[in-house]
Amino acid sequence: MSERELYCDTCEGVEPFEAPPCADGHGADCPELVCTGCGAAVLVTTFTFRLARPSGRHRPASRRRAA
Ligand SMILES: [Zn+2]
Ligand SMILES: [Zn+2]
Repeated sequence: MSERELYCDTCEGVEPFEAPPCADGHGADCPELVCTGCGAAVLVTTFTFRLARPSGRHRPASRRRAA
């Protein structure tokens, strides 16, 4: 089941990737996929990754050196 096609840098093309046996207890949510063509492992963080950056203006660090 858990197989999807992704671009592989090593194979230089789109290859079927499959989830390796996970030893970390991620289960079906394991972000790791292995290229079935060359065996390279990739991390898929497409939907599990959260942007930690607050939207809007960013403040400069209020770190001043009193000279
Ligand atoms: Zn895992
Ligand atoms: Zn590959």
